[in-house]
Amino acid sequence: MIFLKNGTWIDWQSLEFKKTDILVEEGPDGKILFNPDPERTGHVKAIDCSGKLITRSFANGHHHSYSALARGMPAPKKNPVNFLEILHYIWWNLDKALDLEMIRLSALVTAMSCAKNGVTFVIDHHASPFAIEGSLEILAQAFEEVGVGHLLCYEISDRDGQDIARKGLAETATYLQKRQGLVGLHASFTVGNDTLKQAVDLALAANSGIHIHVAEDKSDEEDCIRHYQMRVIERLESAGALQFSKTILAHCLHLDDRERNLVERSPAWVVQNMESNLNNSVGFFTSKGLGSRIMLGTDGMHSDILRSAQAAFFSGHNFDSIDYGETYRRFRNVHHYLSKNGFSGDSANNLVVLSYDTPTPLTSSNFLEHFLFGFEASDVTHVISRGKLIVESGNLLTVKEQEILAEAQLQAVRLWKKMK
Ligand SMILES: [Zn+2]
Repeated sequence: MIFLKNGTWIDWQSLEFKKTDILVEEGPDGKILFNPDPERTGHVKAIDCSGKLITRSFANGHHHSYSALARGMPAPKKNPVNFLEILHYIWWNLDKALDLEMIRLSALVTAMSCAKNGVTFVIDHHASPFAIEGSLEILAQAFEEVGVGHLLCYEISDRDGQDIARKGLAETATYLQKRQGLVGLHASFTVGNDTLKQAVDLALAANSGIHIHVAEDKSDEEDCIRHYQMRVIERLESAGALQFSKTILAHCLHLDDRERNLVERSPAWVVQNMESNLNNSVGFFTSKGLGSRIMLGTDGMHSDILRSAQAAFFSGHNFDSIDYGETYRRFRNVHHYLSKNGFSGDSANNLVVLSYDTPTPLTSSNFLEHFLFGFEASDVTHVISRGKLIVESGNLLTVKEQEILAEAQLQAVRLWKKMK
């Protein structure tokens, strides 16, 4: 147990403020107790939180830890001029070269970065077509070593052939027998009907859902119309992929009104990844007609979901109906997605302690302005995950950060050399 003394609690749902001591119980179902009985706090590790803010820690609705070793890599052999070329010359070149050791380090450095940014739960979408078997368990163990909760999937695709698609299905089936997770698909344009059907069947059998990129670029819709005479959401709906409340549709940029209506009427969730969309020049997310089940992700660009929330607002308010409150609602929706679907690891005893110096008063009534224009990941001081202190005064307690970063650099050089 941990005893947080004399901090200011901000309720993540009501935004109510209160000065309080908090006792944090450990474990997946651990609770937090306000102003606890002093008899219970005598032998517990106490942290002075005077002048600090305490609130629920953060979670990421769509991430790719497999891309962690890409930062600073040599330029591709051809400068990509559109989204499909970005995939061909960058990401599908990188993912083919990954082996299990590179995957382990990618996951460790991603989890470390998440933890230091106050993120204690990650929904990850993994691809490594020539190192599939056992990859999800390696990811899970790496996240757990750092102390970050996870909901993983393998990005099943026919893009490298049927054989590799079958291996992706097999890895998913094996993983879902022992752990919580999703059935990952890359995107409509790289998944044939047979693989799509098998993925939906697997999600049904495992009581899971589908996690797929949807209409991230116009080309996904164009391909779907050309090959299947329907649009992407229509294809997913007719295959049964939208029937699950665990289903996650990442991006959803180029949907028409009918598709938006199908998404709204389904129990599926949408993830907005603003910075990634800006970086890939694929278009702009708008929530019009999609309903309220929208959460935020970083799409592998970085692990600072607070920054992504701010980007979602600063870019989005020019063309989407997103205001301060709606930005915060999308930022926190991931907790509702996880709890309503019964996933474990994103519990009340996941907390972040912020050292936030402000030149203006901060109250319940102007919290959202501070959230968007003031808060930074560097304010994250202590992070508690499932009741365990994993970051103290900005330093990771669970793993040796510098050693892992040095090891990751060796793996990154090895990966870059292997890439064609
Ligand atoms: Zn993605």
